[in-house]
Amino acid sequence: MIKIEDSRLRKIVKTNIKFSNWARTFECIPELYFEPENDDDIIKIIKLAKQYNKNVRAIGVGHSPSDVACTEGIMINMEKLNNIIEIDVEKKTVVVEAGARIDILNECLWKHGLALRNLGSISNLSISGAISTSTHGTGINFGNLSSQIIGLTLLTASKGIINCSANENEDVFKASLCSMGALGIILKVQIQCESAFKLESNQYPMKLNDILNDLDSIIYSAEHVRFWWFPHTENCVIWKADRTTGDLKIQQPSYFKDHIVSYHLYQFLLYITRYFPSTVPLLTTLMFNYKFSQPKQVINASYKQFNFDCLFPHYTNEWAIPLEKTKEALEKLYKWINDNDVFVHFPVEVRFVDKDDIWLSPAYNRKVCYIGIVMYRPYKKPVPYKRYWAAFEEIMRSCDGRAHWAKAHTMTAAELEKSYPKYKGFIELQKSLDPNGMFLNLYLKRHLFGIGDKDYFKAKL
Ligand SMILES: Cc1cc2nc3c(=O)[nH]c(=O)nc-3n(C[C@H](O)[C@H](O)[C@H](O)COP(=O)(O)OP(=O)(O)OC[C@H]3O[C@@H](n4cnc5c(N)ncnc54)[C@H](O)[C@@H]3O)c2cc1C
Repeated sequence: MIKIEDSRLRKIVKTNIKFSNWARTFECIPELYFEPENDDDIIKIIKLAKQYNKNVRAIGVGHSPSDVACTEGIMINMEKLNNIIEIDVEKKTVVVEAGARIDILNECLWKHGLALRNLGSISNLSISGAISTSTHGTGINFGNLSSQIIGLTLLTASKGIINCSANENEDVFKASLCSMGALGIILKVQIQCESAFKLESNQYPMKLNDILNDLDSIIYSAEHVRFWWFPHTENCVIWKADRTTGDLKIQQPSYFKDHIVSYHLYQFLLYITRYFPSTVPLLTTLMFNYKFSQPKQVINASYKQFNFDCLFPHYTNEWAIPLEKTKEALEKLYKWINDNDVFVHFPVEVRFVDKDDIWLSPAYNRKVCYIGIVMYRPYKKPVPYKRYWAAFEEIMRSCDGRAHWAKAHTMTAAELEKSYPKYKGFIELQKSLDPNGMFLNLYLKRHLFGIGDKDYFKAKL
């Protein structure tokens, strides 16, 4: 039992808090749940954790679709460390506290004539949570969000506060830019932005075969390219976006189409397919014809273009494979879905990301194609997904894939060591910055160190 003597810590602690991730697929009850308001609070929490030998986890918004943010020790909610500390319009840089939300940052940057280079599908994420799992968007010459960071302040267990960048403590910098909380608590980051820009996006239907047969030119045909494949059919919808100085061209959202049909009716019909799974392909075709079969052009602020509505909670799995394996992987997945008695939801999402030099980034040293799959949970009800997951992961492994760190996956420590040239360096650094394993939760022990992995994978995935 932890006894908190510090009056400040008593003020910011809560107990009996159940943490659940966004999709309600993972949860935990930490022994203590802190809501710090400044760095001193966090330093005191770490001191307390050391005294009682407790595991510590910082959380952002809790969007990760795995147990990467879970702990039964001490949880630190970074939500109140959300200040935008300094914006340098000349250098186009911004310094923010780690819990700053990207959607709020986007609005603030826009007012100063600045923007982030690239974003993922949603922006209601904390900056530290997003970079800790190597969150990415799409664009073959655009790296993940971590690659936009130029400086970082880390509170470690053994060496106190470390400031790092490409010029200072470079190893710590390259390791902590995608570290899932394993090296310590990120307190602040400095981000390289660019001048605010608009994007012209064009979305239109294509057949899967036509995309795969012309893949190389399609990937490079715009600054940002992604496509969704609708499994059980040949249908895809492709989305391309380029910078533009053209006038805004915004399609007003239709409450009926976007909300009543595409959200509520779709969720209800997915619920029905739980009892009649063979109707999934029909529902997929209906949704494609209704919502995605017509071309659509939009010109809007960049940060409003990158994001889209991810609907309701789902199971998800996503891996990054070398770019040149894209066609092979999708053909294998197409064959497996068609040859087996399975009914899977759309979309299979395909995105492209530039290589980087961040030690545990799935795009370390290679341009990658990210392939993501989903199974929706209508009204948060379970749906069968494990067979699909197992086949998908086997295909990703056969294509030299690396799993997305935020998502529940079965990549083992041995596989990580083989796939990531800097895996050993990361483990050594982790041990030197955190000799007692204060920052290792079950997820990290399982994947980074192979502790308890086999039983977990058998039971959960
Ligand atoms: C609807 C939806 C859409 C998504 N779209 C995309 C997408 O387009 N692209 C993509 O790549 N991912 C996507 N994701 C995954 C998401 O980007 C990641 O899960 C991201 O990590 C979530 O950020 P968060 O603030 O919720 O972090 P959390 O889930 O709270 O935490 C993630 C990790 O970061 C660690 N962490 C958080 N703050 C700190 C800190 N200050 N110091 C040290 N460690 C810290 C946590 O301990 C944990 O290990 C999506 C997820 C959802 C639910």
